[in-house]
Amino acid sequence: AKRARSGSCVFYTHDMEDDAFAQLRLESDLRRALERDELSLHFQPQISLANGRVTAAEALLRWQRPGIGMVSPAQFIPIAEETGLIVRMGEWMIDAVCRQIAAWRDASLPVVRVAVNLSAREFVPELPAKILDALARYALPPSALELEITESVLMSNSERTVSIMQALRDAGLRLALDDFGTGYSSLSYLKRLPIDTLKIDRSFVRGIPDDHDDSALARAIVGLAKNLRLSVIAEGVETAEQAAFLRDAGCDDMQGYYFSRPLPAAAFTLILRTGQPP
Ligand code: C2E
Ligand code: CA
Ligand code: CA
Ligand code: CA
Repeated sequence: AKRARSGSCVFYTHDMEDDAFAQLRLESDLRRALERDELSLHFQPQISLANGRVTAAEALLRWQRPGIGMVSPAQFIPIAEETGLIVRMGEWMIDAVCRQIAAWRDASLPVVRVAVNLSAREFVPELPAKILDALARYALPPSALELEITESVLMSNSERTVSIMQALRDAGLRLALDDFGTGYSSLSYLKRLPIDTLKIDRSFVRGIPDDHDDSALARAIVGLAKNLRLSVIAEGVETAEQAAFLRDAGCDDMQGYYFSRPLPAAAFTLILRTGQPP
């Protein structure tokens, strides 16, 4: 019986990813990942079109899962959101980002702003105090952080969310609306949102310059941002043609594989030394 049982275990590991069992396993592994230091950060440079220099970075979570390898945040963030684990994960993230910015500062490297993604469930009234505590722990100015939120964050409890956003912005943090154009927020609503930046979603950038609709939409988003006096950044820029089109359209900053993939902290440190993408 024992033998059969261990046999079936082997079977399960084969099909693990298709299984409800695998989901549970992923969930409990994820819970432990926080305690066992399996999470890390990557930094993807954001390039200013005015001078071609790296002016900021987006911090992206990475999970080195033992025996499996690197798991994409696209896979584990939804589970972390469902289970509520995202709250502790977000706290880890904010602390790790602040610690890294402080390490760069202490090495006399330029302090670039780092953007951090926030999920809807992290938007609790204690959020501003938690973030300000983390900044204070490392003696960093609030301008060191930008918070990226998607339109879906606003859908769950928009009144409460907007007042939390306002508190964060009043404290001096920058706010960006991520994946812009993919959500449902009306344009009149945009006017009332306490934000600094629109981030054009990769799905529009992908079709530039050949797809007429994508190109027109990307240009329209840049125009909209300018008229609302917001800064505008494009994500997912992969080609020189896309970069040139967006530059001509008046986009302020860009991010994407054309400039650099997300990098481990050590590799991003080299970029900070020169101010140029690799
Ligand atoms: P996102 O915020 O839209 O982040 C951009 C994603 O696009 C990243 O994937 C990045 O690696 C990828 N990317 C960047 N440049 C290019 C490009 O030129 N071409 C293509 N095809 N892809 C590009 P990643 O790192 O796998 O992250 C996926 C998503 O996971 C993020 O999407 C974000 O929503 C979420 N995420 C990552 N880190 C965190 C975090 O700390 N907290 C929360 N709440 N969500 C996070
Ligand atoms: Ca983002
Ligand atoms: Ca995005
Ligand atoms: Ca996107």
